[in-house]
Amino acid sequence: MEHIEEFLRKRDEDGILRSLMPASLRKDGKIYFGGREFIDLSSNDYLGLSNHPRLIDASREAVTKYGAGSSASRLLSGDLEICHELEEAVAKFKNKESALVFNSGFQANIGIISALCEKQDAIFCDRLSHASIIDGGLLSGARMFRFKHNDAGHLNGLLSKERKKFRNALIITESIFSMDGDSPDLKAIVDIKEKFKCRLFVDEAHATGIYGRNGSGIVEEDGVTDRVDFIMGTFSKALGSFGAYLAASKGYIDYLVNRCRSFIYSTALPPSVILASMAGIELVKNEPFRRIELLKSAEYLREGLKAKGFDAIGSSHIVPVITGDNSMTLKFAQGLREKGYWVMPIRPPTVPDGEGRIRFSLIFNHGIPAVQRLINDMQEIKL
Ligand SMILES: *Cc1c(COP(=O)(O)O)cnc(C)c1O
Repeated sequence: MEHIEEFLRKRDEDGILRSLMPASLRKDGKIYFGGREFIDLSSNDYLGLSNHPRLIDASREAVTKYGAGSSASRLLSGDLEICHELEEAVAKFKNKESALVFNSGFQANIGIISALCEKQDAIFCDRLSHASIIDGGLLSGARMFRFKHNDAGHLNGLLSKERKKFRNALIITESIFSMDGDSPDLKAIVDIKEKFKCRLFVDEAHATGIYGRNGSGIVEEDGVTDRVDFIMGTFSKALGSFGAYLAASKGYIDYLVNRCRSFIYSTALPPSVILASMAGIELVKNEPFRRIELLKSAEYLREGLKAKGFDAIGSSHIVPVITGDNSMTLKFAQGLREKGYWVMPIRPPTVPDGEGRIRFSLIFNHGIPAVQRLINDMQEIKL
């Protein structure tokens, strides 16, 4: 076990040891540590729905009626009608034939990808793909190729060279990348997918609830729903609840019910979570004002920071600011903390060397005046 002690010592020495920091409460865009209040700029609760009365009431009613737990996996006795109702709501929301609910986005990705691909197949995924996508690929045993971030030309080149060597090929991308706040050219990727007879998997974890006319995501916004085979997303971010979904054809869903190990061998989500997710979808569909305001605030923040000379990147509700080396990144993180903002310094190895950043993840509740204060505070810290 010496390698474990050695690992911890090295991490600590390099100043990159991760540790947990329990908050006493987080609510309405704020987070509390002991008695101290911070503006929370590190969550994925983009629309502030995790504290919305509709989700809270839905959870409470579910607990009263069904109890706290679900007691078994879905294939045993854990399969409640409300879960099927949620799946129908998701299929409608995403405009796909069918849907399947998973216990988390991480479980969805490792289970779905490893069930779909085998040794004689290939996976082509974006270089910045989420850990769960990489792990799903590794678990599948398929050959993995990583194309340059959001570079459809590179994907095209890799496929020209490699596609014919494999039985099936699965292309995987996210629709919003959380460390860069940017999106791929989905239309180009869909064309490539068809040209090379591949299937396409899009992870909408950060886009669900924010983009598209119904708020279902970027796939909807870009009008490519029918041409994306697998649309995965989570209930745990903008939808304010927990768990994940896959929207796809009925054939694929039936296959996964029989084949996806993280679905088959795990206890079903608790009823309170299922009904909270349902309430989250309803709010997103019927009340678009939150995502409209959020996107306005993010644009205001990005443009405001750029005007002050900051390297604010991306094009979404996530606004990363490149700070460069570790000492600069820490200076901003520390300065912001002192001014009452809860932000995390993002440093290598999470991002490439020299590309340390502060990542602002706004919540709808923050509003423009708070964003303006943040821009001013950032400038003060820089001076
Ligand atoms: C958050 C996230 C996941 C994991 O979802 P959880 O429900 O938190 O397990 C998967 N993919 C992406 C792109 C994510 O951002």
